Amino acid sequence: MASTDRKVNGLKRHPSCLNESYEEQRKAFLSDEDKLHLFDDLTKVNPVTTATVLKCLQARYATEVFYTNAGCTLVAVNPFQSIFYLYSPELMREYHLASRPRELKPHIFTEAEQAYRNVQSHIEPVNQSIIVSGESGAGKTWTSRCLMKFYATIAAANSSSQMDNDTVARIEKRVLDSNPVMEAFGNACTLRNNNSSRFGKYIQLQLDGAQLLTGASVQTYLLEKTRVTHQAHCERNFHIFYQITKGASKEERREWNLPERADFSWLPNSERNLEEDSFEITKDAMLHLGIDSSMQSNIFKILSGLLYMGNIQFSDSEDESQPCDLQENAKDFIKTTTSLLGVSEEELLEKLKVRTITAGKQQVFKKPCSRAECGMRRDCVAKVIYARLFDWLVAVINRSICADSSEWTNFIGLLDVYGFESFPVNNLEQLCINYANEKLQQHFVAHYLKAQQEEYAAEGLAWSFISYQDNQCCVDLIEGSPSSIFSLLNEECRLNRSSSASQFQARLEKALSSNPCISRDKFSKTPHFIVSHYAGRVNYHIEDMVEKNKDPIPTELIQLLQDSKDYLLQQLFPVEKEQPNNKTPNRAAVVTVVSKFKGSLDRLMHILNSTTPHYIRCIKPNMDCQAMTFKKEEVLSQLEACGIVETINISAAGFPIRMPFQNFMERYQLLRKPQPSRSEQELYINSCAFKNKKGLGDTVENADTLRRVAHEILENLVPEQSAVS
Ligand code: ADP
Ligand code: MG
Repeated sequence: MASTDRKVNGLKRHPSCLNESYEEQRKAFLSDEDKLHLFDDLTKVNPVTTATVLKCLQARYATEVFYTNAGCTLVAVNPFQSIFYLYSPELMREYHLASRPRELKPHIFTEAEQAYRNVQSHIEPVNQSIIVSGESGAGKTWTSRCLMKFYATIAAANSSSQMDNDTVARIEKRVLDSNPVMEAFGNACTLRNNNSSRFGKYIQLQLDGAQLLTGASVQTYLLEKTRVTHQAHCERNFHIFYQITKGASKEERREWNLPERADFSWLPNSERNLEEDSFEITKDAMLHLGIDSSMQSNIFKILSGLLYMGNIQFSDSEDESQPCDLQENAKDFIKTTTSLLGVSEEELLEKLKVRTITAGKQQVFKKPCSRAECGMRRDCVAKVIYARLFDWLVAVINRSICADSSEWTNFIGLLDVYGFESFPVNNLEQLCINYANEKLQQHFVAHYLKAQQEEYAAEGLAWSFISYQDNQCCVDLIEGSPSSIFSLLNEECRLNRSSSASQFQARLEKALSSNPCISRDKFSKTPHFIVSHYAGRVNYHIEDMVEKNKDPIPTELIQLLQDSKDYLLQQLFPVEKEQPNNKTPNRAAVVTVVSKFKGSLDRLMHILNSTTPHYIRCIKPNMDCQAMTFKKEEVLSQLEACGIVETINISAAGFPIRMPFQNFMERYQLLRKPQPSRSEQELYINSCAFKNKKGLGDTVENADTLRRVAHEILENLVPEQSAVS
């Protein structure tokens, strides 16, 4: 009897765990379409069409079944309501202890457990990645958090001694505590999700030889720092600002100069009370991560300074040759800001209002800024402080949760990055996000779709090729060489020429006209370009794009922060050592936003390519975040956007079950006819190992050997069992 029928810790498992046999499911489908919800794998619906797949997901959703396999991928439809039994520690242990977790109902724990077992089995690549994707609000962060809890729970269950237990509990607490801290500083309420992550995250859970969780490390990507100074209509700033203004004690308010109900222009929609506004949880978690209360106070003092900075408004000066003035009520705000940030009031004002231009080696000019420029310089200071604070926090978290390199051998990585974005107005941020999604889609295609097709071809199996959307052309358009959107953007920054948006549009069109993935709307007057992404066409506005790519931070403003008396600001803005021979930074070496982002994404892809990937595709069943509401059109566009329809087709047409030969032999021992000779087995296993090592670029001789030996061995097995791929 399957282990699913066991009682775990005296608790009877929930019926959602029961798994009907495939035959039962098939019968159900043939006799009654209403029983579509019984299909655990979308590749089993017949025929596999978008319509049947949608119907199946909808039917399952209506019966509160939220997870469905799609061949090698798990589809997770957001319930938008708490379903406690689905994430209980008992259920985690049940999946962990099951002899064959794949035979339990589809669940994120099946993927988690599979990854855990893969590490144990030492089959290359040993390290694992679980890639959680989906659009904003689909449930990526929720899923990643549950996966972390899963590993924390089973790691504790696996520890053999009390000492192990205590250590694991301590590490587990710290690893889990990194979530509320990073979410407080990096998440915000948006139109699409009350707790939307405004940064990407890859967390590596580190395991020792005994499979115990010994630590973790976090890598973050592209924090949306503009949110500090600009929030779209009906959206909010990062949660932490609301937490301090709502949750500070009397003493803290005095210390950070935060009266109750203060009116801050960078703090819109603060009347909304969200679950995420809990200051206590953040402070507790920070404490566990080793950020003591005096350091916390320093952080919140700076944040309070930023809120005051947002209230510093300028008015136009009557004489253009003179710097513009502060608005009347802004005088108090600048006083409070500078006292909270430990910088000089006169200097801040001077540096916000007057630009320093260095020409040649020694010549320095001063130029008064317009009102708009003063505002931009103020925003620039706030954004750079917040971005550096966030990076500093991530570094502190890493120091606190990262195990020593001698203490861990393998890792399971969890990737939670923003999904594909297409808004009425898109700019550099969306271009970067969608580029990341293109790269992930390419990774997915490479690993599953292509590999599966090529492997069948190499194995000589009868197989008709399914056409899939190869997005190489789009990736080349964005990052390729010699010409791409990124290279042209970088060139503009390098040459530092002041070209208009239309001039840049003309340059793009000239250089990239041969790429079919770029086009433009002939009737639109706004300078723009349209990219045909795998998930749909996106119109990007060019205005400000080059400037955003430069992300300029005037040196004089950085110097101001370097001179701060505040302890933390001094850490965030260390004084750089004098360049030998008084060298000024080389223009050609300016690090742009896209080159920095491409660099970190390349490193991520390098890590992902060295791991065995598992994919969880999160789906948002409706845009209003309503519980138990399934809107087919909205789900369909997401299924298409993440390539599920093609995955299902390929998986359905191929061999859905794959198993290493040794495991297969062990499992079906009893059914075997006379055992193939040891040398035959070894030869087969060696050729498999060779193939694995060499990747898919196998020589014909090896593929032939493999096929011949495999046939010889399989002929010795009873016929029904030979259909293993
Ligand atoms: P994303 O990270 O994809 O933007 P989140 O993980 O923040 O989305 O999920 C959005 C919201 O959806 C969460 O705040 C939560 O309320 C709800 N949610 C997501 N997944 C689940 C789930 N499995 N069960 C219950 N609610 C969920
Ligand atoms: Mg998220």
